[in-house]
Formats: sequence, structure tokens, C-alpha cells
Amino acid sequence: MSLLEVDDLSVTYRIAAGDVPAVRGVSLSLDAGEALGLAGESGSGKSSVAMALLRLLPRSARLDGRVLLDGEDVLAMKWGRLRAVRWSAASIVFQGAQHGLNPVQRIGDQIAEPLLVHRLASGAQASARVRELLEQVGLPTWRARSYPHELSGGQRQRVMIAMALACSPRLIIADEPTTALDLMVQAQVLTLIRRLIAEHDISLLMISHDLSVLADVCDRLAVMYAGRLVEAGPSSGEFRHPYSQALAAAFPTVGDPASRLAPRGLAGDPPDPQQLPGGCAFHPRCPVALESCSSTPVDLRPAGERRTAACVLVGEDRARGN
Ligand code: SF4
Ligand code: MG
Repeated sequence: MSLLEVDDLSVTYRIAAGDVPAVRGVSLSLDAGEALGLAGESGSGKSSVAMALLRLLPRSARLDGRVLLDGEDVLAMKWGRLRAVRWSAASIVFQGAQHGLNPVQRIGDQIAEPLLVHRLASGAQASARVRELLEQVGLPTWRARSYPHELSGGQRQRVMIAMALACSPRLIIADEPTTALDLMVQAQVLTLIRRLIAEHDISLLMISHDLSVLADVCDRLAVMYAGRLVEAGPSSGEFRHPYSQALAAAFPTVGDPASRLAPRGLAGDPPDPQQLPGGCAFHPRCPVALESCSSTPVDLRPAGERRTAACVLVGEDRARGN
């Protein structure tokens, strides 16, 4: 059985201007010890998926579908159970560490907090665990006495990772964990994440707009467009969906500054979620769209070994026996 099984998940924000469907029937699974990358432009719904998995969305969000964590539906959990599951079974590393840390609390106390809340350690035991966690993420133990403003962006992101590891969860969800960092620090944090998930046999769901960052860490990649999954497959293989290909071309290489300055192959803007184009939602931006693409919706279909993609051209290849 998968550690995480997301089944037909939808997220709809209810605002004054009406319902905004941010996630539309996403299904995915993650095995124990596996790393899955979820990619897409901003507004694709990827962060909403991440937050929905631990029900961290605002009250205006309606969640439908199922999120099975170790066989238990997170969306159906009572609050007490949900609190127990957060941090201890699954934890999350947020985008931009400055928002995830309390500016007036020492680093060590913040890392210890999940341990104390879940009664996994107290007193000297908790302090020892904090020192151990700081060492694991490559920070000197005296940093326990520092405040967040005394740390660099990269060091703060390491603190967030230490907090996520504190209760030894089986799953870590990381939402753009390196986006706010400069390229050299980004590479160091990615190396750290790779090492920790391997050493501790943790499953990882990592969210990013940058496919090259995800491919660097993850076994499998999934791509979202306009709230839907448009492709999923092993990170070693070639993308088949024109949107995934454009996204990959926009950020070709980890740590290559030129690739950041000149995103290629992705013209136009993502659609308004309240007024999605008919047929394939990508068709107004798709460089290889057929006439039928504006009227005929496309579901995910087999697109090679362990790969699915939602594009009519993939189906044509199949029909020709390629
Ligand atoms: Fe492009 Fe059509 Fe494929 Fe959509 S279904 S990605 S518009 S070719
Ligand atoms: Mg986001």
C-alpha cells in the first residue's frame, strides 16, 4: 500500500466573486521512501494540493476527494487526530523560511516545539534532540540560542527542515523550499534534502515551479496545469506533454543563472481558473495544438513506461504503435 494516496482531490475557494476551483480532481500516490516532485506555474494549484494534504488551507477552501495517509483519510479526520498527525506522521516545509519562523523566539525553542507538543521529549532530552537536529541540517549547535533575524535565508531554511524532521515523520511536504535562496545556497539545501530523505527513509512531496530543481531530487515528477495533473512519470524519462516540455525548457538546468534570466518556450499567461478555456485548457498557449483541442477535453492516458499525459498527440502516437 502507498504511504500517501490522493484520490480525486479538489480544492475550491469560496470568495465574494464566486467559487474559484484551484484543484480539479487530482489523483497521485507516493510510496514509502519515494520522492515525488509536483511542478507547475504559479496559480497551477500545486501549493493548494500541498496544503490540502494536511488541511492547512483557509476556511474559505472546500476540499473534496480523499487523502489517505497510511490508509487513514486526512480529510475525514477529527481535529484532535489531525493535530496528532501533523508533524509526527507528516510535516511541511514552507516557501520562504522567514514566514515560517517566529521572529521573537529562539531557534532551539522553535525546533523543540513539535517535540514538546507531541510529548516526544521534554527538558534535557528535548535539548539534546535539538542539538542533534541542528547537526543533521549542518548548523552549529550554538545556533539554538539565535533568533531568526541573526540567520541567513539558507540557514533559516535549514532550521525549517530541522523542525520538519523533529518528530521523525514518514512524509515531508516541501513547498518551494529553495525558491527564495540564491543559486549556490539553493544547491546546498537541495543536497541536504536529498541526503536526509535517503538517510532517514522519508517520503518527500516537493513542490516547485522549476522542474530542474525537482528532477535533481525526485524519483518521479508530476506536472499541473490549471488545477489538473497533465503529466506524471519517472524523472529520468522524457516529457510528453507540450506544457511539461515548455516548463522544462523554461528552467533547463539547476544552478545555471542564464536559464533563470531567459525562460524559454512558455509564452502567454495561465488561464483564469473561473473561466478555463474549453477542451484542453492549455490550447491557447500550446505550440502544437490541433483544431479539435479547443473543444475536446483530454484525460490522462498512458504515455510510455510508467508515464501518463493528458494530450491528444500522445494518443495519436499510441494509435500508430510508437
Ligand atoms: Fe496541445 Fe492539444 Fe495536447 Fe492540449 S491536447 S497539449 S492543446 S496538442
Ligand atoms: Mg506556491
